Amino acid sequence: MEDNTNNTITANDAEINREEQSHEPEVSVADRLTEAIAQIREVMPGLALYENEPMSGHCSFKAGGCARALAIPQSVMSLTKICSILKDHELAPYILGNGTNVVFPDAGTPELFVVCTEKLQEIFLLPDGAIYAEAGVPLSKLASFAFENGLAGLEFASGIPGTVGGGVMMNAGAYGGEMKDCIESVVNYYLPEQRLYELNNEQCSFGYRKSLFQSMWGCVILSAVFRLEEGNKDEISAKMKELNERRRNKQPLDMPSAGSAFKRPEGHYAAALIEECGLKGCSVGGAQVSEKHAGFIVNTGDATAQDLYDLMIKVRNTVYEKTKIQLEPEIILLSPEYKLVDYGPKIPRNIVSGSYMTTNEG
Ligand SMILES: Cc1cc2nc3c(=O)[nH]c(=O)nc-3n(C[C@H](O)[C@H](O)[C@H](O)COP(=O)(O)OP(=O)(O)OC[C@H]3O[C@@H](n4cnc5c(N)ncnc54)[C@H](O)[C@@H]3O)c2cc1C
Repeated sequence: MEDNTNNTITANDAEINREEQSHEPEVSVADRLTEAIAQIREVMPGLALYENEPMSGHCSFKAGGCARALAIPQSVMSLTKICSILKDHELAPYILGNGTNVVFPDAGTPELFVVCTEKLQEIFLLPDGAIYAEAGVPLSKLASFAFENGLAGLEFASGIPGTVGGGVMMNAGAYGGEMKDCIESVVNYYLPEQRLYELNNEQCSFGYRKSLFQSMWGCVILSAVFRLEEGNKDEISAKMKELNERRRNKQPLDMPSAGSAFKRPEGHYAAALIEECGLKGCSVGGAQVSEKHAGFIVNTGDATAQDLYDLMIKVRNTVYEKTKIQLEPEIILLSPEYKLVDYGPKIPRNIVSGSYMTTNEG
């Protein structure tokens, strides 16, 4: 694949401090993965762990090849335990939420261990009225929970199909609202140090579809605390219904997609630019610029990740030629060479706890 998208991750982003290793013969990533998987199976016999798992079944675009392994831990403790074992083998996991913004390569990722947060579903009200939610809580469930407790501010999130973890990572937003407007703090597990850190809203450096975590390799978002205003339940419910109705009317929700293909360029709308350039309905293989909403690329049935990539390049080049506006991809397309992660920049953070505990799964 040609690589000129900002969101495509290449092998150069990879490898944890390999140069610092001694002169011992190098053990390949594949061998280290095999050893790590065997160890994880041994110490966590109850863990849902699948090898050579087709990722098309875990991503909303419904395309892409197999990951070497996919684990679905039942708890935060199990997740950190998996991470710790991987780190012992100089590996790091790729964290997956609901897979609604990410597409894996057709060739698969034989060097990738994916950990999915879907079972991390704890959500409750804190004594001071804020909401605590684990990374795997769907944003729709978070919005419903806020409504049930008469808390306003998360109505925008009720139709976004991602999780709390993915939503924090992407600073997901819609209809004038963003995650950053309601997040008080985020707890993340920082793999290089194997410690938990709590970042306040400011420290998360949220921007338009951006957060600090995108540049902090080795960060696993475990949970977030949401601070909301008290509101009128009827009004909250009416707003959620109205926004979801708008979504249903405008977006191709009946077809597989990964949401908006491109970010909104300053002062413009990506969908309007794409439509003006005559690209609505344009397709490559099974990937098509949606007839209903030009900002979405849909899978008409048999799209590959390569089709999606080629279409995104075609759209981006055409829009640039005609308008001189450069579209930036919002969908994360993993490249086949994706391997591990490096330590990322050092930033000041507040330590919550460095403890490491065993779980029922192990
Ligand atoms: C039909 C449709 C409509 C959409 N509408 C919107 C919309 O209105 N607004 C919007 O902003 N987005 C929208 N999206 C895109 C997507 O739902 C959001 O970006 C969402 O926040 C992604 O969450 P996820 O759990 O699916 O993340 P994934 O797609 O699983 O992952 C996205 C990124 O976050 C990382 N990640 C996920 N969880 C964690 C974690 N716990 N720790 C560390 N990293 C993590 C992944 O590694 C990946 O880099 C839409 C998508 C679809 C399919």
